[in-house]
Parts: sequence; C-alpha cells; structure tokens
Amino acid sequence: MPAVVTYWAEHAWLPHPDGPAVRPEVLITVGAGGRITGVVPDSGPCPAGAVRLAGLALPGQANAHSHAFHRALRSTAQVGSGTFWTWRETMYQVAAALDPDSYLALATAVYAEMALAGITAVGEFHYLHHAPGGARYANPNAMGEALVEAAARAGIRITLLDTCYLSSGFGAEPTGPQLRFSDGDADAWAERAAALTDAPHARIGAAVHSVRAVPAGQLGTVAHWAATRRAPLHVHLSEQTAENDACLAAHGVTPTRLLADHGVLGPRTSAVHATHLTDEDVRLLAGSATTVCMCPTTERDLADGIGPARRLASAGCPISLGSDSHAVIDPFEEARALELDERLRTRTRGHWTANALLRAGGADGHASLGWPEAGRLEPGALADFCVLALDSVRTAGAPPALGAETAVFAASAADVRHLVVGGRHVVEDGVHRLVPETGRALADAVGALR
Ligand SMILES: [Zn+2]
Repeated sequence: MPAVVTYWAEHAWLPHPDGPAVRPEVLITVGAGGRITGVVPDSGPCPAGAVRLAGLALPGQANAHSHAFHRALRSTAQVGSGTFWTWRETMYQVAAALDPDSYLALATAVYAEMALAGITAVGEFHYLHHAPGGARYANPNAMGEALVEAAARAGIRITLLDTCYLSSGFGAEPTGPQLRFSDGDADAWAERAAALTDAPHARIGAAVHSVRAVPAGQLGTVAHWAATRRAPLHVHLSEQTAENDACLAAHGVTPTRLLADHGVLGPRTSAVHATHLTDEDVRLLAGSATTVCMCPTTERDLADGIGPARRLASAGCPISLGSDSHAVIDPFEEARALELDERLRTRTRGHWTANALLRAGGADGHASLGWPEAGRLEPGALADFCVLALDSVRTAGAPPALGAETAVFAASAADVRHLVVGGRHVVEDGVHRLVPETGRALADAVGALR
C-alpha cells in the first residue's frame, strides 16, 4: 500500500455534533497505518490523484455474529417444513463434512460475499474445533486459524470468538457431531484458546455457546479468560423458549440471570438473539451495559420470534447486528428488519431512525467485536468503509441528503460498489479484487461438501 491514499466520495455519511449527516464531495485521506488522517466535506470536484468513488460512503458494516459454515445450508434448509431443531440436524451434517482445508475455502468465499455486501469486520462465533469424533488435529487450533486466514484472503477483519461448547444440554454429554465442538472442560478450552494470537486484521475473543452447552459451574472460567485479556465475550441467549424452560427446570432461574450470577454479562459482552426475555432479564442486560446482537434475518428464518430490540436499546443496551446462519448476507436488510419487525408487532411506525440503525451496524457493531476504533468516518478511525450506489434501480430518485434512509430502507447488498479496509481497496466497482469470481468460489466450496 502506498504511504497515503486519497479517496474522494461523491457523498458520505459523516458524524456531526447535531447528529450524523450526508455531505457532498468528501475527501478521505488514509495514512500509512491504514487509519483515516483527514475527512473534508464540500471539497469540490475530485482532484487528480484521488480515487473517485461514486455514490454514498458509509462506515464499513460489522457483521457481529457469523457461523461461516452455515452458508452451506442456504436454500437446502428451506425445503419442506421443520423446526429449529430439525434445522440444527441439517446444520450438523454440514459440520461433519468440514476439515481445515475445506473450511478455509468455504470461509474465504463466505467472507468475500460479506465484503461484497459492505461488511468490513466479522465476528466469527467458532465452535467447530476438532476432527470428527472429537480427535484433536495436530494443531488443535487448525480450524480457528483457517478462519483467520480466510478473513485475510477475503480482505476483511475478523474477531475469532473461540467458543466453549461442552454439553448437548443441561447435564447431557455431547454426542455425534457435537464431539467436534467440545474441549472436555472449560480449563481445557481456555488452554487451547490461549494459543491463538492476534494479527493486524484479527483479534481473539471468547464465547459461551449457550447456557445449554456450558455447565453453570464452568461459565466463570470463560468469563475470567475474557476479562483478563479485556477481550470480547459473546453468548447465544434465549433464542428459543425451550432453552428458557430447560434452564428454569435445571437451575430455577432464567438464562440471563444464570449468566449474570456467573459474571458473564458486562460492557465487553454481547448477548446474541435475546429473543425471549423477562422484564428482569432486560434490567440485567441493560444494567450491565451488555450489548445485544440481533440477527433478524436468521431469527425470522428459524421462526424464533421478534426480539425486544427497542426495549433493550431504550433501557441502555447497545445494539449490534449479525447475519448468523447466512440465510442471506445483507447488513441493510438486517438493519431495516429491526424497524419493520417492530412495526408489524406494534402496528405503529417510527421506532428506529436510519441513523440509529447505521450506528448499530457501524460503531456499536465494531465495539462489540473489540474494534472500537472502527465504524466511524473520522480522523483517527480505521479506514474501513463501503460505498453504496445511489443510481441503482433500488436507490435512484431520493435526494442524496436522505442517503441514510436510502441505505437502510431501500438499498440491498447488491448496491455496494466499493469496499475499503484499512485503506485497501478490496471491492472495486462491485468486483472483489482478491476473490474476483466470488460466486464460483462459493459454488465450489459448498459443492465440495456434498
Ligand atoms: Zn448463532
């Protein structure tokens, strides 16, 4: 990368003391460290030597919750009927077919798809650790390191949320495909995860798969591991009422209360889904400043229900967004679903502004992944941004000043024309420069698992 790159965006969504606003003719300079050194709106026509970006520049979107291998289920999991739990059986069949090489190929293609959708950072909630039957690979982190390498090949950032998964239910040993997920106990998980290291594009975090998958007495080990590293800690929470019922039967408390009692909640923690909560659960999450990661396209796909995102945000929880099972990968669809689902539930409009939803996908999403220096177009921030076409059949016609509303309520992933990560031009005119035949890469990687 040259020492300094200058981009010129036709429009950009920029922070402002009175609230974010779209400004025209914005010069964005990037220093040698991949950080923004200057943002100048109303700069006049594109100067010689600058890279011209037609459309609307937005902070790169953080996909705060991903299981890359679920991408192989797209469409196939839509045949016939079924429940969350039958879907999970199909997902386990895919999990059983993966090894470090095939996972590298699949995740590279999936992360390239994310880049094409405007995503500059992914939180990979990774629990497929071991070989079939639970045997250890020669490098026990071979699968996790394949994901870190995949993000590098796709040109995006990753937070590898190495996930502790020890039981198939309250007091039940893992069986079948779950043997690949388990380290035996939380101490063994912690020892293996400690061997993972950060890279310029990668940070290591922790995850508790769920209160079903980590015995209560071992939750504190995972929380302590993350706390001593000041690393992000994620956990699936109350996606299904069956989890709440089983937790109440086993422990006499809700999953949220159990996590709170074992030190799992807090400002570095993200609770994923949080679909079925009590009033006390909402107070515990907000009182601990826990982020809640909503995954609306997956939650609707799996018939989970509509989570109380608005209530949680009003109570004080930051909100992030994730594509989770990758039924679709479209951060703008995730964002608008928060508002549109709430409209359906309440039969009233106006719960979220477009600016608030872009913040969930941008600054708050990055913070939940341990990248607080990303998600904003301002000097000092990482130079991670995407550019949406404002002249496509979906986006044409609205005034550019309404770019935030256009992005959230009209645009799709297909409107992303450019992606810049750390100043590097990863997607150019809708083509991924590192994985140029992204569709073929996806078809080959998914097809190899059949
Ligand atoms: Zn998930």
